[in-house]
Amino acid sequence: MLIDSHAHISDGKFNADRQETVKRAFENGVKYIIEVGCDPDEWDKVSEFSKNPGIFSMFGIHPHDAVKFNDNTKSKLETLLSGKNCVAVGEIGLDYHYDLSPRNVQKKVFIEQMKLALRINKPVCIHCRSAYDDLFKFFDELKELPKGVIHCFSGNLDDAKRVLDLDFLIGIDGPCTYPKSDKLKEVIANTDISKLLVETDCPYLAPQAYRGQRNEPAYVVEIAKKISEIKNMPFDEVCKITSSNTVKLFNMGN
Ligand SMILES: [Zn+2]
Repeated sequence: MLIDSHAHISDGKFNADRQETVKRAFENGVKYIIEVGCDPDEWDKVSEFSKNPGIFSMFGIHPHDAVKFNDNTKSKLETLLSGKNCVAVGEIGLDYHYDLSPRNVQKKVFIEQMKLALRINKPVCIHCRSAYDDLFKFFDELKELPKGVIHCFSGNLDDAKRVLDLDFLIGIDGPCTYPKSDKLKEVIANTDISKLLVETDCPYLAPQAYRGQRNEPAYVVEIAKKISEIKNMPFDEVCKITSSNTVKLFNMGN
């Protein structure tokens, strides 16, 4: 059993074969998929799609779309977060690589959503790109942190240790299969398997075997295989433990 803990199947790139994509994942040993709605303009699509069996959801406002945060989107977000299959607030965070929303707005919207997660007692899924120093600074400013995962982890080993000290988990994606991802491989080798989740972040970041193509949840197998190779651990163990980490973090029952 595997769980793709982070997917964007509502993306237009799956318009022609969305149901077939999900079917391929289930046929490849994926039991659950967590679908992410992080752009207010896409929330309705994600909410509709996540009614399908085996699909869970999370909702939030991505740092790219932080400028879309207002009273209306905030109240709609709270309604979506109370949905039956919704397991987390996300993905939320900071992205200083693209800077699509001004940094001060990213910060404000990130902090607001962290506080919201605490209030409704849900974990968070954090997106952080080229912004780890500020992420830790803002964590310090919050008196209390929800549980959560740093999704698509791209920091170094020191960042990973700080993340683990704060009791967050680390999400591992396709880049761990790339030949030049030494930094990420070092993080995987030195992080206990009980702290790792696997995720595709599809349609982005296809693993090496499919690089350049559209990514999809069935390929999460490639990530578990790579972790098993790096940690010299049976593939089945990797699947079992990362799945149980995911179920536990996101309170997914059985
Ligand atoms: Zn994502």
